[in-house]
Amino acid sequence: MRHAMQHDLDTLLRTIAADVQPLLGEGGVAEYIPALARVPRAQFGIAVATVGGECVGAGECDTRFSIQSLSKLFALTLALQREGDALWRRVAREPSGTPFNSLVLLERERGIPRNPFVNAGALVVTDVLCSRYLQPGRAVLEFVHRLLGETGVAIDTEVAQSERAHSDRNAAIAHFMRGFDNLHGDVAEVLDAYCAQCAIAMSCRELARAALFLAADGRQPRVGEVLAPLAARRINALMLTCGAYDAAGDFAFRIGLPTKTGVGGGVLAIVPGKLCVCAWAPGLDANGNSIAAAAAIERFAAATGSSIFAAPPGGH
Ligand code: GLN
Repeated sequence: MRHAMQHDLDTLLRTIAADVQPLLGEGGVAEYIPALARVPRAQFGIAVATVGGECVGAGECDTRFSIQSLSKLFALTLALQREGDALWRRVAREPSGTPFNSLVLLERERGIPRNPFVNAGALVVTDVLCSRYLQPGRAVLEFVHRLLGETGVAIDTEVAQSERAHSDRNAAIAHFMRGFDNLHGDVAEVLDAYCAQCAIAMSCRELARAALFLAADGRQPRVGEVLAPLAARRINALMLTCGAYDAAGDFAFRIGLPTKTGVGGGVLAIVPGKLCVCAWAPGLDANGNSIAAAAAIERFAAATGSSIFAAPPGGH
């Protein structure tokens, strides 16, 4: 039974990897981070990790790439572990309808970011981590090590330095929120920690395994409770509504799963109770979301019937 499922998944992932090949030339890369602008576009990987302990991949599923905004999932989880619901006094839970690095809503909303996945929200989350950890730049990395039960994953220091050297926009956001007393630490320290977490390099396989607790009501297989079930469900709700920035509505429409994207080209999706799937391809659309990775996740959700809006078999 176990092997049959693994075989089916294997075939499905390989078919998807072949199907999306024509899309790999499309889109641009994140040129505002020069170290990312050099990543060749003709790459694709996909991996699935199940709550039952299987992990299947296809394409370049073991190639590490810059996780960028996917790190916001792990940072938010850590901040919720430390701060609990008090975090929500400083970060709202609404889609922004603006690009991930936009400043426009912050003035009107007095320095309270719309959600923890736009950069403003993630910078508040990082500010929390800076107040709680002696080495905030390593907090997210070490959390990822604990989730994976191994320490091979590392920060790509070239990418971290490259982003730090071009972080005027994030610096502006951080200073602006500090002006509203919603960022308490030192802006330079917050930016360093934020750029370090974004520059963590992981493969599709590692990401799918690390995020499994989000598919399992907060329990990480072989590790135990990472978050209470309610907190984990809320992260899924935020992924569905805000995980792909101003394309979140379109992602919910096309895929029907909680997803999170990053400008390194990664897209991670959760099938609650079942699995976590991660696809990667560097070519991005105008919203900063990977074109081929999103198409791959869309195909996966359709082929497996795993939209969260589908009625369960025999359930009606
Ligand atoms: N490090 C990137 C930034 O702050 C992350 C953005 C993203 O992946 N969407 O701009």
